[in-house]
Amino acid sequence: MEQAVLQKPQKRSERLKKAPPRLEMPRREDLLPLFAKYDVPVPRYTSYPPATQFTNRFDGSDYITHLTQFSGDGTEVSLYVHLPFCDTLCYFCGCTVLISNNREKISEYLDYLKREITLVAETLDNTPIVVQMHWGGGSPTHLTPQEIAELGAHIRKTFEFAPDAEVSIEIDPRGLTIEHIHAMRSVGFNRASIGVQDFDPDVQVAVNRVQPRSMTEQVIDWCREAGMTGINLDLIYGLPYQTTESFTATLKTVREISPDRIAVYNFAYVPWIKPHQKLIGIDTLPIASTKLALLELAIQELTDAGYEYLGMDHFAKPTDALVEAKRSGSLHRNFQGYSTLAGRDMLAFGISAIGRVENAFVQNVKELPEYYKMLDEGMFPVERGYELTADDAVREYVIMQLMCNSFVDKDEVERLFGMEFDHYFRDALSTLEPLTADGLCYCDESSVTVTDRGRYFLRNIAAQFDAYLAPVEQGAAADGAVKNMFSRAI
Ligand code: SF4
Repeated sequence: MEQAVLQKPQKRSERLKKAPPRLEMPRREDLLPLFAKYDVPVPRYTSYPPATQFTNRFDGSDYITHLTQFSGDGTEVSLYVHLPFCDTLCYFCGCTVLISNNREKISEYLDYLKREITLVAETLDNTPIVVQMHWGGGSPTHLTPQEIAELGAHIRKTFEFAPDAEVSIEIDPRGLTIEHIHAMRSVGFNRASIGVQDFDPDVQVAVNRVQPRSMTEQVIDWCREAGMTGINLDLIYGLPYQTTESFTATLKTVREISPDRIAVYNFAYVPWIKPHQKLIGIDTLPIASTKLALLELAIQELTDAGYEYLGMDHFAKPTDALVEAKRSGSLHRNFQGYSTLAGRDMLAFGISAIGRVENAFVQNVKELPEYYKMLDEGMFPVERGYELTADDAVREYVIMQLMCNSFVDKDEVERLFGMEFDHYFRDALSTLEPLTADGLCYCDESSVTVTDRGRYFLRNIAAQFDAYLAPVEQGAAADGAVKNMFSRAI
């Protein structure tokens, strides 16, 4: 494999010369066969390389090396805080989650989490500026209001925040109180992502997540009153008992509630990885053609309602910051999804959390006893990580350009990485040809551009530039080793 010369990318505003075209809704009869053809297992590309490439040869000492190298005064940084606890188990859940209402157990975790935060901060030689923080899980709102306020205060005391930092939290409306909102305000949360999945009562019972519409509306009202913007609702298609009729009703409710952003995720049924998903009877899941119809319905309903399709599974109002970032070519992607803030180093805390420092990914251990033991011994609780090679760096850049901006400027890649694009990516350009023939993208002398139709297949297009993915025959049955690692594209 040829090696590129690794260089620091320039600002996106400087490098995007050609804005991607505005999305037109492709015709239904064109899309459906393509959905079936390209429904193969591929990574979600929240990172490149995907986390499946991380290795335990990377440990805490490597992390320390990167932390000390990276920490310049005023370096902009993002924080991710993983809070794994939930009240009850949603049967579809794919997260690293611990079901517990043992407040002592939760309190113990928070003590160790604060210790990890302090340990990382003390390892930095200088003072970075936090421009973005996200709390995910699990359910961050399974903490008590007091726990939220205290953890937030600890982080705010430990790190310096930019006045306009984006501070976001995942909310489970069940059990949320106005006191939680007050605690969130004290921490400075100004973005919220709210789990819904489906409003249909039968679907909610089948996935063990009963959450009436009125509860969701109340929480959204509270968030808005607290001055939060960019409010996101999560939906999932492919859940048990979903039909086109029931999902039409759910989408109608979503339109009435009118969140700023909507994510419509594909239900990844992977019981070989998440055994609790066996609690969902396989015969209750919608058949493949229904699932495709649900996706098509979501796209149609949400674009009809004025939402813009950002790519992958995300929609946003035209006035939302994510849409503006997409238009200006500055949309970014990280482990939490799409973001307006590009290329920030991310310090991640808590079990299973994945961070990025300079050219290295780092992931924490996933089990509480190990997490506690390592911190007790004064060690970083690192399980594995990955240092990007020069080849990874150029492929990461190209894949993120496709995933975020639907466009790759070949000249820019050549200038940034010191290579000849068509020669370097001759294999990828060759495997891209069938996708080009299907009208998903086009390549000319200066660019690779995703078409309107191709934006529904970003993962498939990006996969052609992935050096680690065994060639997937597009349209073939989803079998083999890849099945064990990635969810299907549609
Ligand atoms: S609330 Fe979220 S993290 Fe918790 S079990 Fe349900 S889906 Fe998983």
